[in-house]
Amino acid sequence: MDLPHDQTNGIQQRRRVGLVYDERMCRHSTPDNEPHPENPNRIRAIWNRLVSAGITQRCEVFRAKEVEDKYIAAVHTNNHINLIKTISSKKTPSQRNRAAAKYNSIFFNEGSSESAYLAAGSVLEVTEKVAKGELNSAFAIVRPPGHHAEENEPMGFCLYNNVAIATSFLLNQKELGINKILIVDWDVHHGNGTQKMFWKDPRVLFFSVHRHEHGYFYPAGDDGSHFMMGEGPGLGYNINVPWENGQCGDADYVAAWDHILIPVAKEFKPDIILISAGFDAAIGDPLGGCRITPNGYAILLKKLMEFSSGKIIMALEGGYNLTSIANSVLACVELLLEDKPITESFDVYPFGSTWRVIKAVREELSTYWPILADKLPENLTSRVAPLVPTYSSESDDEYDDGSNALPEDLQEDVTIPLSKLKLTEDTHDADQVTAAASQAWRSELSKIDVWYASFGSNMSESRFLCYIEGGQVK
Ligand SMILES: [Zn+2]
Repeated sequence: MDLPHDQTNGIQQRRRVGLVYDERMCRHSTPDNEPHPENPNRIRAIWNRLVSAGITQRCEVFRAKEVEDKYIAAVHTNNHINLIKTISSKKTPSQRNRAAAKYNSIFFNEGSSESAYLAAGSVLEVTEKVAKGELNSAFAIVRPPGHHAEENEPMGFCLYNNVAIATSFLLNQKELGINKILIVDWDVHHGNGTQKMFWKDPRVLFFSVHRHEHGYFYPAGDDGSHFMMGEGPGLGYNINVPWENGQCGDADYVAAWDHILIPVAKEFKPDIILISAGFDAAIGDPLGGCRITPNGYAILLKKLMEFSSGKIIMALEGGYNLTSIANSVLACVELLLEDKPITESFDVYPFGSTWRVIKAVREELSTYWPILADKLPENLTSRVAPLVPTYSSESDDEYDDGSNALPEDLQEDVTIPLSKLKLTEDTHDADQVTAAASQAWRSELSKIDVWYASFGSNMSESRFLCYIEGGQVK
């Protein structure tokens, strides 16, 4: 394949990186624009950040294209397609609301159908271009997200499973020569829809790392547990890394990469990689409660670029702190453009629970991936970050590893409240910084708290109550 050479350096090849963004995907919203974490400003914030950083000029930018029904039908039922296709043409908002109420964490408005078709079409289009070698890699800045959407059911803000549709497209277009696909789902939530769609398929290695909390974190239940490994010929090709607690950060994710994902990927040798790139495990995210930094995402991505000749397609899933998602996507696209060195040194170790999960996953999978059979050295797994309670005595299951766990420059104001938050208004004795941060936290998140109060929680009860009380919502 001919690649244009960098004019300043005749040896180094310039990477061709695709970006898809289309304002029409902002038309999908809550019926009366009620506050909601999955709102149009998410993709606008990402796009604006890339523009201001001068990144869009260095990429090949595409407008979205609607996906054809025949490609959706490879992973969704006709009933599901009919629902999404016709939902926006319903005459009244109340008809759409009644339809949405049948599903878990779903909203519809007059723009929902178009946005869903554009999101799936965008991911498919750049996936085809990367597979054909017209692009080295791509980032699809799309919404609605997709990884929770199941064969016959939209859920968790997801209408069509964008990544699954693109994956089946690759498998069905034999002339593309793509036989093995790795899907990495680093959204903080389990990719339940994608898991089910390729459950028995050994051509697709599905890896999801997510908060699980023994089945209490959204989408609750056993689907995201580590013993869900696929079935029939697909057995061993479904890998779940289920965190037992929040607050997981760069060190925890890198450990999961180094000791599970990367060794397995070396054996699997994918022809192409799709990333279900949610950024709700990013530091500062109000729903995720984890703390991956932009540099942390770049490290995770760089480790994946060693495979499939760097053919990687990233598709936006969740992520609800506008600053966090914008900075995280920027770090990723910069890395896709230029293989710059990245610092991989942390002041913190993984949690003890992280090593416990990693050991359990390795043991369970070692039948199918013998490379995971070796015991991890004790001097590695004995170095852990301490877990200490975070919020209040009411939140028994929330932990923090203390403010010392993050380097100073990573302690953005959004993280201060998570470690020092006071749940009462009585701040007379608190130092002013903490009080101001506490107020900022409340005003920033109160709309989301209202949403939780109105539409139900995605989280365990104690965390739900913590948000409600912290946001002063009655
Ligand atoms: Zn998510």
